[in-house]
Amino acid sequence: MVNHFTWNPGRVIIFVYKEALTTPALAHRQAKTKAKGAITMAILVTGGAGYIGSHTCVELLEAGYDIILLDNFSNAKRSVPDHIRTLGGRDVEVCEADILDEEGLHSLFSRRSIDAVIHFAGLKAVGGCAQIPLNYYYNNVAGTISLCRVMATRGCKRMIFSSSATVYGDSNTVPFKEDYPTSATNPYAMCKLVIEHILRDIAAADSEWSVALLRYFNPIGAHPSGLIGEDPNGIPNNLAPYIAQVAAGKLPHLNVFGDDYATRDGTGIRDYLHVSDLANGHIRALVYSETNRGAQAINLGTGAGYSVLEVIRAFERACGKEIPYQVTGRRPGDIAECYADTEKAQTLLQWKARRGLDEMCADMWNFAAKQDQI
Ligand code: NAD
Ligand code: UDP
Repeated sequence: MVNHFTWNPGRVIIFVYKEALTTPALAHRQAKTKAKGAITMAILVTGGAGYIGSHTCVELLEAGYDIILLDNFSNAKRSVPDHIRTLGGRDVEVCEADILDEEGLHSLFSRRSIDAVIHFAGLKAVGGCAQIPLNYYYNNVAGTISLCRVMATRGCKRMIFSSSATVYGDSNTVPFKEDYPTSATNPYAMCKLVIEHILRDIAAADSEWSVALLRYFNPIGAHPSGLIGEDPNGIPNNLAPYIAQVAAGKLPHLNVFGDDYATRDGTGIRDYLHVSDLANGHIRALVYSETNRGAQAINLGTGAGYSVLEVIRAFERACGKEIPYQVTGRRPGDIAECYADTEKAQTLLQWKARRGLDEMCADMWNFAAKQDQI
């Protein structure tokens, strides 16, 4: 249902024009695609109905790619593909399937010619993963192996993978650089590390593979339309969706996990980036992978850190309400500070996050406020 959203087709045109101005490689690709007429690249987006996947699908459509959205809808609403179609202004093939189902993947690859895969599908809740490690290793690691086996057999050897800053572990100093040692403090992080190793091994064994290991920092925010955003089941584990639920009156107050860290106000510092900026990073990685082979780990963050109290203040400005909070003890496993060194993303992908914390919070609040209406 899109009753409360007025789609302005001109917006899409303006966006594409802006991208054309700022990204020579993308503009070149768009021009090439136009010149070839009907030949457009087809991208398989696993987990495409999820939070980051849905925003990336919209960016892909706006950039002129064809997409096949694959999701088992274990953590996404079935209404999301319709919102993607509305925002992207084009149709999208939806494949309700599981990445663990190799036969199903083979039949998809035999039916469609797929140029590259952006692989988001996976379980992502850090809290709780230690209780069900087998589910995490099976779904995330075995699922990725199954997907790669099919891709290799079908000759599709370009993958953009959703890794995470969590692979930097708890003993590095900020800003985190891609060549820092990696480690894992929980099964979720271990899945990301193991998958990074598997993908590097695949790329080392076969020089036709091109793999981007995108290490996301803390994506927050939502599409400015308020049609897509992060809508976690149950009580959120992460800061931003938790604050949104407090602002909406669904939760009484925020628990601030520790104010005795060695940071400017004692609360934890993270590198929050707008999900639409993150989505755009995938387009740049896709363009990069057209002409570069091998495996590369690349940070996607803003390079700036904000404390928990600073995020609370920004959200208060966005929603015009006070966010009640109380300070509790530290959350086990948390580190004081985590933000990215962004040089590699700027050099290799010509990508830089554009949106600030106030815009992230405003878009998040807009999405949260619309949830009861759509
Ligand atoms: P999400 O849960 O919103 O999206 C993941 C999607 O994958 C969901 O729609 C889910 O239904 C689908 N899925 C899960 N297992 C599947 C399977 N076996 N087969 C098919 N579909 C399956 O999560 P998100 O926040 O959009 O994250 C996307 C990716 O980015 C994940 O791999 C996550 O680990 C990674 N990541 C997320 C963050 C973050 O803060 N959100 C940070 C770093 C990395
Ligand atoms: N945090 C908090 N209360 C919450 C959730 C998170 O104080 O209810 C803090 C957490 O300790 C960390 C920051 O907010 O310093 C970001 O936490 P989040 O779980 O969003 O991201 P991650 O720690 O996984 O980077």
